[in-house]
This record gives sequence, C-alpha cells and structure tokens, in this order.
Amino acid sequence: MKLHVIGCHGPYPVAGGATSGYLLEHEGRALLMDCGAGVMGRLMRLWDPAALEGVLLSHLHFDHASDLLVMRYYLEIVGKTLPVYVPAEDESPFRALLSAPAFDVRPYPEKLSILGLQVTTLPVRHPVPCRALRLTDGEKTLVFTGDTNTCPGLAAFARDADALLSDAAFLEAEWTEQKPHLSASGAAELAREAGAKALYLTHLPVRHEPESLLREARKIFPQAQAVHPGMVIAL
Ligand SMILES: [Zn+2]
Repeated sequence: MKLHVIGCHGPYPVAGGATSGYLLEHEGRALLMDCGAGVMGRLMRLWDPAALEGVLLSHLHFDHASDLLVMRYYLEIVGKTLPVYVPAEDESPFRALLSAPAFDVRPYPEKLSILGLQVTTLPVRHPVPCRALRLTDGEKTLVFTGDTNTCPGLAAFARDADALLSDAAFLEAEWTEQKPHLSASGAAELAREAGAKALYLTHLPVRHEPESLLREARKIFPQAQAVHPGMVIAL
C-alpha cells in the first residue's frame, strides 16, 4: 500500500493548498479517501479520477468532500460512474448534491472489499455522521480516524495499525471534550493506547506550524510525524 497525501489542512487550505484528500495505491489500482477543496486538481497529477476504484468519504463536511462537485463534471464528460461510500445515516443536503450519474453513492457495508483490501469502519464523535476507516491487505493495516474527538472504541479499532493517520486539529490549550476534533496530544494518546507502529498527524490547522503540534504529540508518542502535501507513506 502506498498512501499519497494530496491535502491535509482543515477546515480550509493553506495558500495554494488543499484540505483532506489521500490517494491509496495498491497493486496498480487506487482509491481516494476524502475529496476536499483543492484535491481534484492535485489528484489529476497523480491518477486519472475516472480510473479510481471508488471514493471513501469519512463524512460530508465540505473540507472532506467539496471537490466531488467538480469531479462530477469530469466523470460525466468521460462517461464514468464511481462508487462513493458515505456514512449511512447522513441526510445532509450535500448528499443530495452527489445524486448524479457520475456517482453511485452507497452507505458503507459492514465489510467492504476494494482494491483487494478489507475495509471496516467505526462511527466516531463529530458533529455530523463520520467514520474512521481501517484498511488492511492482511499484512499491513492503515487506520484513518476521519474527524473525531476522543471516541469510545477508537483505540481498539486502531489496534496495532502499521500507520495511524489521525485528526490533530488543536493544541492542548485550545482543546476541550466538546470540540469537534482531537488535539495533537490526544492523537498521540490514541496511538499509544492502540499500539500503533506509526502516527501521522493530519487535519492540520492553518494557524499553527506543524512543529508546535508535533512538540506536544512527541511527549506522548515520540515517533509522531505530521503529514504534508506530496508526502508518500509506504506500507
Ligand atoms: Zn468534519
């Protein structure tokens, strides 16, 4: 598995950047996890969107899904329909916008097989329905938290992940249990509790340098890293 970080900021991009979007490549095929602002143009450099096996959306907040609205035009022009997986209980107006021939919108099944990977999901704690994703080829496992604050069962869901890609949107001084996201140290605690082999901080806030988030995370999980656009994580 090869995870290409396309965009990693939230809820809006840095100048010239992109919000949540990750291309996962496996054995010559690929899927897209999230498709936020600025992701479509960057994806065009890496992979033909019409050649994706599908799109896995953690949730339908705009910083995770808005560029599907322009990907739709491309897919319509080339005459392709992509499966798009969303949390079943989401009834937001945005979901209705995805009702187009370009997309076959489906709720996550209990077990999803795509790219030869087994994908399971966990509802996490965010203001709208959101899923953490666990993808494994039987040897290596990637877990993406989606957007979440602390969440019962999340550490068990992420158990022994080779790579944990975690929401880390706040410094500890800004964070409370009521916020929609984890802090960097919360992400580190999650990685430690899960026994993850590697932690990658994402959903990076534009107002802070990644170093300040890393400083807090590394007190708890010393090998923590922050992702950046263009980064490739090999699993
Ligand atoms: Zn969100």
